[in-house]
Amino acid sequence: MEKKLTIIIPVFNEAKILNYSVTEIEKRLEKLPVKYELLFVDDGSKDDTYKVLDGISQTNKRVSFISFSRNFGKESAVFAGLENADGDACVIMDCDLQHPPEFIYQMVDLWLTGEVDVIDAVKATRGKESIFYKISSLTFNVMMNKLTSLNLKDSSDFKLLDKKVITEILKCKEKTRFFRGLSEWVGFRHKKIEFNVAERTVGTSKWSLTKLIKYSIDNIVTFSSIPLKLISFFGFFVIFLSIALIGQTVYMKLVGHAVEGFTTVIISIAFFSGTILLSLGVIGEYMSKIYEEIKGRPIYILKKSKNNENTSKSN
Ligand code: UDP
Ligand code: MG
Repeated sequence: MEKKLTIIIPVFNEAKILNYSVTEIEKRLEKLPVKYELLFVDDGSKDDTYKVLDGISQTNKRVSFISFSRNFGKESAVFAGLENADGDACVIMDCDLQHPPEFIYQMVDLWLTGEVDVIDAVKATRGKESIFYKISSLTFNVMMNKLTSLNLKDSSDFKLLDKKVITEILKCKEKTRFFRGLSEWVGFRHKKIEFNVAERTVGTSKWSLTKLIKYSIDNIVTFSSIPLKLISFFGFFVIFLSIALIGQTVYMKLVGHAVEGFTTVIISIAFFSGTILLSLGVIGEYMSKIYEEIKGRPIYILKKSKNNENTSKSN
């Protein structure tokens, strides 16, 4: 039987670009050797994304979509896509064409050889990004690498995954799911291919500064408990330091220079309150993750799904 590919495309407020994206993707994938469908995941868009998708899916049988009841974030959208896809493999791709669709030829060719299970597209050049974005992404990747030993430098969500890998990824039930991390973590045979990030033609990036910071902290915390352990090491270090400080203070008292110790008091109060607050903060991050897990809420809620190829799934 002919193999089928599901291309999962998370979208958030992309009404302006959707029609153009679908036309471009279909044009550029005309000669794909396998059958494919486009599964859009509307991540609770506030513009006309839903209406546009509904319109496209009525005339274009290749297009299906699911729509969230609110914005749950791109990670949830990717997982919803994986859960609702029925292809023999899936490609995850952005809808702004920054992930060049023609790259899928190379991915599919590699997949069809049967020798690779995951094809990761890594960024050869990063396209137009602000210096701030570049620095934060570098910091995040270095921290991720040091804390979890996953090497995510220049990695992207643009990937092809075989069905068997998807099945394993979907078994990971944590609430904060980090797609790039999990797809490495499950193992299997990976192959990296380089691509140049195209520029976004319509609309603007959907990431805000606060969203990016939250994303980085969430992913580090779900993938590594080292920051938590570091607190104890840091605690020992601080205790050592304070023994020296106590020694010094007592000495000053004995030789009659007690008032001068005032500086030490200020420094130590500042230092210890800083340390304590930092440690509490780290513990708090993990506590909040445990809290999320215990609540066991779904990572997304569907408002509507329309599946053109498999009617049993639509409602
Ligand atoms: N996106 C999403 N939910 C969000 C933010 C973004 O589904 O909360 C989608 C967005 O519509 C796009 C993809 O994720 O298809 C990548 O987003 P964007 O182009 O804004 O990110 P950047 O290219 O700047 O990393
Ligand atoms: Mg983009």
